[in-house]
Amino acid sequence: MLSRSHGLVKVCLRLKRFFLIRWPDSRHARNSHNLHCLTAANKSAMPNRMNASPPSPPISTKPLSPSAVQAIFANFAAANPHPKTELVYDSPFTLLVAVVLSAQSTDAAVNRATAKLFAIANTPHALLGLGVEGLKPYIQSIGLYNTKAANLITLCEQLLSQHDGQVPQTREALQSLAGVGRKTANVVLNTAFGQPTMAVDTHIFRVSNRIGLTHANNVDQTERQLLAIIPPAYLLNAHHWLILHGRYTCTARKPKCDRCPIARWCRYPDKA
Ligand code: SF4
Repeated sequence: MLSRSHGLVKVCLRLKRFFLIRWPDSRHARNSHNLHCLTAANKSAMPNRMNASPPSPPISTKPLSPSAVQAIFANFAAANPHPKTELVYDSPFTLLVAVVLSAQSTDAAVNRATAKLFAIANTPHALLGLGVEGLKPYIQSIGLYNTKAANLITLCEQLLSQHDGQVPQTREALQSLAGVGRKTANVVLNTAFGQPTMAVDTHIFRVSNRIGLTHANNVDQTERQLLAIIPPAYLLNAHHWLILHGRYTCTARKPKCDRCPIARWCRYPDKA
């Protein structure tokens, strides 16, 4: 019995060394160490040193109850009854252009560019008149501007030739436009046309998993799970609440749990 205990202690010490070398500052390391020390049989669950990707923060594994989901969104609604996108726009067309430009960029950078662009071209006809080369100087501070300029000029041609210069109000028609994917279509359908869609970006993907609203591996799963779990009364604004929560409170590296209005219900194991 004594030698079995001694052997178990040695296994624990080896595992501790392994995790502290790999993740010296990580709480995940300490949690994993504790878990793996319970039994030597759990050694098979250890990450493979060669194949393991960089450790990501642990996410919730416990499902949230419907009453907890209701409480979370009631809190978001109470704190910010009319959440809005931070992109500046004054029509469905200028929103569509801003959202296309925002891929892999920040809303602030897009707003700086569109302030000058929309002052001289805020319709498909006017933007098309600039041409690709005429458009580039306005958006060259934004990532992927060459591709975005080409897409926006094609998009304007499509709007004029296929939709009488109007932004279409169906997902299929929107996603047939140059540079418009599912997320962009969801933002436009939600923000310009009031449809209860869920445009999942990096913030929503992260915070939904952390809070325990979803248990998803990708944005498509996240979208489906959120649409299924969020009470209908909150669906229209849920996308904005979750983005703003991820941008300003539940930030990627250091979530501000001490000032989080939904901390009581959050399942994130590392919440402070
Ligand atoms: S408690 Fe922390 S981890 Fe949970 S939602 Fe709030 S900020 Fe994010």
